[in-house]
Formats: sequence, structure tokens, C-alpha cells
Amino acid sequence: MNRILIVEDEEAISTLIRLNLARAGYQCETAFDGVEAANLMQERSYDLVLLDVMLPGINGYEVLEYAKALGIPVIFLTAMGETEQKVKGLMAGAEDYIAKPFELTELLARVTTVLRRYNKTTQHLRFLDIEIDTEAMTVTKGGEPVKLTHKEYDLLVLFARNQNRTLYRETIYENVWGGEYSDRGRTVDLHVHRLKKKLDLEEHIVAMYKIGYRLEL
Ligand code: CA
Repeated sequence: MNRILIVEDEEAISTLIRLNLARAGYQCETAFDGVEAANLMQERSYDLVLLDVMLPGINGYEVLEYAKALGIPVIFLTAMGETEQKVKGLMAGAEDYIAKPFELTELLARVTTVLRRYNKTTQHLRFLDIEIDTEAMTVTKGGEPVKLTHKEYDLLVLFARNQNRTLYRETIYENVWGGEYSDRGRTVDLHVHRLKKKLDLEEHIVAMYKIGYRLEL
């Protein structure tokens, strides 16, 4: 289970990265300034930090020092054309950098490479007789392939990464659909229901009355 911290003050970019990494099977958290990032890194554990250079408060280079002290690899996100920043970033000890705007496939490739370098990849998620290949984005049950929609897949990965943990409907909605929850409980319920049926998880994905759902194993 790879946990990635996204440190980026532009909300649209942060959301885009978070959704795509979540879809690829990573568990993501976000920070919108340097202080928040440093606090999160000290409180929780991450396998990788994606770090914007220009941040309000303390900048990316200072945040990099925190990450290095904790042994967490960093990929810098730099604005296009800022060659000087890239060089400075690598000299300062970042594992890699990627220039904005970037192709999401390129970002994913770099994330995978750095995690591999640190022996932190978990390509396969398994529970019960279900296996998720987070690189191929395929799912099998008892060795047989199962066809899921994008949202069902994202939902399954979220449950797989949060076994025996209650997930609020709001959390589920934000992780799978992105954006404001504002009473979209029905959407969540509908997709959870379909996922349970497709994978025969009726007994394992438990509804927590008025709260959300939990994958119980
Ligand atoms: Ca910025």
C-alpha cells in the first residue's frame, strides 16, 4: 500500500494528480502549503512526496529538507522552462522532477520508477479471492477476470486500501468522484451496491448506518 503526499497549492492540479494516482492504486493525501506538508510528514508515514517548488509559506526546498530527514523520496513539480529550479532541485536531493504541465502517463511512470528504486511498489492488492493489478488496472476473482467500470474499479481500490476501516460517504465520494460531496450519498450507495453484487461482497462490504461503508475481512 503506497501512500503519497501531494504538496501543491493549485487546487485544480492537486485534484487532477490525486484522482489519477488514486485510480492507479495509490493512497493519496494533499497539502496546500509547506507548513501543512511538513506537519503531515511528521505525523504520518509516506512512501513518496510530490512537491511543488513554489509554495506559500515555506517553499519546496525547505520542505525537501524535512522529507530527506525522514527518508522519504521526493519528486519535484516545477513550472515549465524553469531549468534552474530543476537543477537546484536535483542538487538539493530530490529523486526526480517533472515539469508542469505534464502528461499524466509520464507522472505515473516517474512515480513507479522512484517507488521501485526504493522497493516500495505494491503492484498487486489482494483480499479474499480478489486480486487487483494496479498497473494493468485489472481485477480477478478466483482467478477469473471481472469487468468493472472506472468508478467501480476506483471504489474497489479504495476499499482494498482501507480494509476494516469505516469510510465516510463523503470520503468515498471525494476519492472516487473528486469534488464536493454536497449530498451525493445516493451515487455512492448505488455504486457500492453494484460493486458488492459483481464481486459477491455482500457479506464483506458493510453499511454503517448514516455514516458510510466498511470492508470487513
Ligand atoms: Ca505553486
